[in-house]
Amino acid sequence: DNHGGHLPTRLKGLDKALCGGIPFGVLTELVGPAGIGKTQFCMKLSLLASLPTSCGGLNGRVIYIDVESKLTSRRIIEIGTESLPEIFQIKGMAQEMAGRILVLRPASLHEFTESLQQIKVSIFQHQVKLLVIDSMAAVVSRDYGHAALRQHSLGWHISFIKSLAELSRIPVVVTNQVRSQSRDEACHYSFQAQSRGKATEVPAGYDSHLVAALGIHWAHAVTIRLVLEAKSGERFIKLAKSPISPPLAFPFTITSSGISL
Ligand code: ATP
Ligand code: MG
Repeated sequence: DNHGGHLPTRLKGLDKALCGGIPFGVLTELVGPAGIGKTQFCMKLSLLASLPTSCGGLNGRVIYIDVESKLTSRRIIEIGTESLPEIFQIKGMAQEMAGRILVLRPASLHEFTESLQQIKVSIFQHQVKLLVIDSMAAVVSRDYGHAALRQHSLGWHISFIKSLAELSRIPVVVTNQVRSQSRDEACHYSFQAQSRGKATEVPAGYDSHLVAALGIHWAHAVTIRLVLEAKSGERFIKLAKSPISPPLAFPFTITSSGISL
């Protein structure tokens, strides 16, 4: 149950598979190796959520928890200017749109916890239409190292974020980095892309051994999981978990105008 709303990604095949885009009221996870494009995707979504409804946006504010300081307003403005020139050429629009994205940079797990509690209030007071956490695993691994991820199961945080999504009925997008697969593993869930822009069905269970960085509690809390990966020099976005779609994979690129299929 997504409470009836979606944030369109403007990646056509993906929006179609998701029945409109990133659903409101539930958690959507973006997983993939370093440099694959998770943050690029989140920046694009942040822009789309802040656009006026007349331009297909949600006309809202965005809270972006930028754990590793990877967000830049310069890049956000570049993506907007290149992908939506007709809107961004309007004087002051770029600054207005970028200004709607509130960036939080918690320096520790403790600060992250405090941010979440403040966000619960802010979402309602400030017309927030998207919450991004980039990245969840980094909150723990930065303080305690990668090995600590399972011990610090983040049980309270996971439940809190899930209930935030349900209460506020906004889309909540969370990234997590996974190490790139070894060749062997890649074979297990190998799939063939027929042609650019065309979706390809992948065998069920292909990501069954994809290491869920935050453990089983997290894996179950997530409603939509999008796996980003590179294969033979091409990037793919795979709809790995969805209550409404079979597992599909779409090739994508990253250019100055951001992520696109
Ligand atoms: P990490 O897990 O380390 O945070 P990530 O999945 O968030 O990685 P991104 O930072 O989203 O990765 O993506 C980085 C990639 O985006 C770079 O490898 C680069 O190829 C691409 N990229 C960034 N800016 C541009 C640009 N202006 N033009 C083209 N490609 C770009
Ligand atoms: Mg990133």
